[in-house]
Amino acid sequence: MNGIPRNGIGMTSARTRARMVERLRGKGIRDERVLAALAGVPPHLFVERALASRAYEDTALPIGFSQTISQPYVVARMIEVLIAGKQPKNVLEVGTGCGYQAAVLARIYPEVYSIERIKGLLERARANLLGLRLANLRLAHGDGYAGLEKAAPFQSIVVAAAAPSVPEALLRQLAPGGRMVLPLRAGVGGAQRLVLIERSGRGFVETELDAVRFVPLEAGKA
Ligand code: SAH
Repeated sequence: MNGIPRNGIGMTSARTRARMVERLRGKGIRDERVLAALAGVPPHLFVERALASRAYEDTALPIGFSQTISQPYVVARMIEVLIAGKQPKNVLEVGTGCGYQAAVLARIYPEVYSIERIKGLLERARANLLGLRLANLRLAHGDGYAGLEKAAPFQSIVVAAAAPSVPEALLRQLAPGGRMVLPLRAGVGGAQRLVLIERSGRGFVETELDAVRFVPLEAGKA
């Protein structure tokens, strides 16, 4: 997978990714498993050709259907928090979008599930991911508010869109000892914060992390 030229990806993009990884290190990402995973997934495969050169920056680029790609730094940060001190097992991502974060997750976890509510976007993600041949990644069309009961419980859950409160189903589908990272917003259009939720034997422990900006988590399939 890594380093195999496809659609003109060659040394240039490998160098661009190496620079991106150095920038992530500079911004505080320390987990080598996470840095290696990001080095292996070219973000430009997930956006339109005209935006390709900007896919390595930490900016919100459009991916169609009024949605945006997750920025490399935010992807790195969320996964680092999820796997700190853990041996990765299985993960659920809510909000596949263009498939970028799903591809990064699939280079870290042996089992990855990602659900997306917009059918057209899920199809686009499938097309983007085809060449990467990630056999351990399963995509599903569904509403993240309901999670993915049939594959639960999950060691990790990561949500790529902001909700006003933690969806109940996701709490239920988190394995004991598991962690969830999600952006929560204070009211409509309010400030967002990344929140870590850990499930212990006795209940859930919540920790507030960085200020972030995600598109809203919306109910129902589209
Ligand atoms: N992880 C993506 C980011 C996509 S942006 C990436 O790497 O690019 C967030 C995505 O969440 C959008 O595609 C949006 O359609 C999706 N989304 C919003 N609400 C959802 C819900 N209830 N269930 C599933 N997906 C949802």
